[in-house]
Amino acid sequence: MSGPLRVGVNGAAGRMGAITVAAIEAASDQEVAFRTDSEDNLAAEISSSGADVVIDFTLPAVVFENVQTIIRCGTRPVVGTTGLTATDLETIDASLRERNLGGIVAPNFSLGAVLSMKLAELAAPLFADCEIIEMHHEKKVDAPSGTAILTAERIAAAAGKTPSASGGGGEGSRGALFSGIPVHSIRLPGKMAHQEVIFGGMGETLTIRHDALSRECFVPGILHAIRRVSGITGLEVGLQI
Ligand code: NAD
Repeated sequence: MSGPLRVGVNGAAGRMGAITVAAIEAASDQEVAFRTDSEDNLAAEISSSGADVVIDFTLPAVVFENVQTIIRCGTRPVVGTTGLTATDLETIDASLRERNLGGIVAPNFSLGAVLSMKLAELAAPLFADCEIIEMHHEKKVDAPSGTAILTAERIAAAAGKTPSASGGGGEGSRGALFSGIPVHSIRLPGKMAHQEVIFGGMGETLTIRHDALSRECFVPGILHAIRRVSGITGLEVGLQI
């Protein structure tokens, strides 16, 4: 592939879409192939623009159909939208492999958040108990966050067993279990995106905390994923750094 990577941005009128457009415009090796939002015809824009990659920052209710459209058009998806299920991810992986294409679904493009998941994987085999608290702005529509679900999956896989959820309590007060780990979701004005992974052991706790303070923290990871997706086949879940 020669010249700048041509990237379509779906959900371009939204908060993350706008930041993504600005980031691509500022990158010397990428250019915006098209911007689409809910009123536009995504398939038609991909066909007429010849985009190499399409990044999707839309809504959980529409992301699966968007990704299938991107793949059907022979283009590589980079997906920031959360809410895809394990079954959706399997279907997307199969569709990509059928066409010998690569795709990335990353519930969190922040390098600090990705690193905090790696640190949690390191700690997981050493602590029997773990809980996750994630805090986001009040407009986030899904709960728990995709990052919290992926963190719980990675902790359980790294621990080689389901971490225990000790203690009792009234209905709902102990969080919801994901991969056996209690996850607590807080939605408040004034918050952006924050997560604490708290491990408990004999006489000690370990807290791994990440705070996204502005949406610009996602930019390096977004540009990295756009560059990376051309060199892979099948679906990669989570940003590989
Ligand atoms: P937003 O509501 O500001 O923007 C969503 C945009 O998608 C809107 O402009 C909306 O009109 C558009 N849209 C809706 N349906 C569409 C369709 N069918 N086709 C095209 N566009 C459509 O939301 P946001 O804050 O930008 O977040 C978008 C998604 O990204 C959410 O799922 C959020 O959780 C996720 N997110 C991911 C990361 C990450 O690092 N992966 C970071 C922040 C947010």
